[in-house]
Amino acid sequence: MEKKITILPGDGIGPEVVAAAVRVLQAIGKRYKHEFHLAYAAIGGAAIDQFNTPLPEETIETCSQSDAILLGAVGGPKWDNNPPELRPEKGLLQIRKTFDLFANLRPVKSFPSLLDSSPLKREVADNVDLLIVRELTGGIYFGEKKRTESAASDLNIYTREEIERIVDNAFELAKLRRGRLCSVDKANVLETSRLWREIVEEKKAQYPEVEVEHNLVDSVAMKLITNPSHYDVIVTDNMFGDILSDEASVITGSLGVLPSASIRGDSFGLYEPVHGSAPEIAGLGIANPAATILSVAMMLRYSFGMKEEAAEIERAVNAVFEDGYFTRDLAKDKDSALTTDEWTDKVIAEIDTNF
Ligand code: ATP
Ligand code: MG
Repeated sequence: MEKKITILPGDGIGPEVVAAAVRVLQAIGKRYKHEFHLAYAAIGGAAIDQFNTPLPEETIETCSQSDAILLGAVGGPKWDNNPPELRPEKGLLQIRKTFDLFANLRPVKSFPSLLDSSPLKREVADNVDLLIVRELTGGIYFGEKKRTESAASDLNIYTREEIERIVDNAFELAKLRRGRLCSVDKANVLETSRLWREIVEEKKAQYPEVEVEHNLVDSVAMKLITNPSHYDVIVTDNMFGDILSDEASVITGSLGVLPSASIRGDSFGLYEPVHGSAPEIAGLGIANPAATILSVAMMLRYSFGMKEEAAEIERAVNAVFEDGYFTRDLAKDKDSALTTDEWTDKVIAEIDTNF
């Protein structure tokens, strides 16, 4: 297969982890005989420095002509005092909006060799393999905001169409996985949640192979800590998804291993690590590239339908951890920690030797 990918390295450790992930992408391309055509473009602080805007027209143009986007991270102290229009993070919000990426996917999968890093008990953190599907472009974060002397309000509004498209997406994703969908709402008190629940119930008939449950968000917040392995796919609105995905992200014990995707229901998508630009370790060559490498696996699976290739990257990452190789953030003995490039070499060697 031939695919065009736009690479947006961004700021801080972004360029380092992206370079590592691109090497893994090329190894997979070589092994499975795919041609990945890469186009590099600027976003965030790097784009502000070069073009005086966090998302230049050229970048949008390049992304429009590609099948998927791989992003590193944006932001850093250098731009913290910039006016709102010249903040790196603005570039990310704009790119999601420009391409109408309404669904945010955050998988959380425990690695047996990293269980000691989890704040949860080993037996609770073990065997977690869940995917949070968060609505990203509607709800209370975007509703009308008002303020008087004595009060403030935020409108929480969802249209039928907005809910239907995210729910359809989640059902499709559940079909690709273990066939279980948990819809999360607060239907005992919120009207938007009651509409949400009705739509999930209506859609159920179209996906007979998916088993559906409805849960209240407060109960899910507890169960993610007491019994996270219960879940397969969780679908929820923008605010609940924001909170639950951060809660779920601590289960694995490291930000450095969590990938994410922002998609829109066709094959196009933006893939990026969950972590930020970590400016304090930028340029040292010690960042953990696992989250970005696993984001590439998500791209192969969701945008290109390359299931086997995606699984091979995930297998290789897990094997390298199992062999006891870690970057500094995860290494118990810091002196034995591998650099970003050394750790990436191990992943590539794993992909090559399994060939
Ligand atoms: P942002 O606002 O961009 O999300 P942040 O300050 O909230 O940034 P991160 O940049 O993700 O958070 O960093 C949080 C902590 O985790 C930092 O101490 C950073 O060094 C560490 N960290 C994050 N990602 C990695 C990584 N890939 N490898 C090693 N350490 C990391
Ligand atoms: Mg952050």
